[in-house]
Amino acid sequence: MLRRLDLADRIDPFTRCLRCNGHLEDIAKAEIEHRLAPLTRLHYNDFRHCRECDRLYWRGSHQQRLADQVATIRAELGMAAGPIDTASAGTAAG
Ligand SMILES: [Zn+2]
Repeated sequence: MLRRLDLADRIDPFTRCLRCNGHLEDIAKAEIEHRLAPLTRLHYNDFRHCRECDRLYWRGSHQQRLADQVATIRAELGMAAGPIDTASAGTAAG
């Protein structure tokens, strides 16, 4: 009954982009590791990216993946030139 395997493959969330439903394809870790949060880089080795929007995916539970992606975004923001909300604070730095 190969049909069952085919069906299982079709519903694998790791084959389609959750954002745009594009096809995911394998990508070497070395090519995208600069985009990963340190812990993600440490714990995951199998990565895919969306051919349409280039969103990155890696194997793991949904919750862990969400947490990692939040961490990734925070890390990216942290690498920006300065704090984002200084405009509203208005305090002079010493
Ligand atoms: Zn996509």
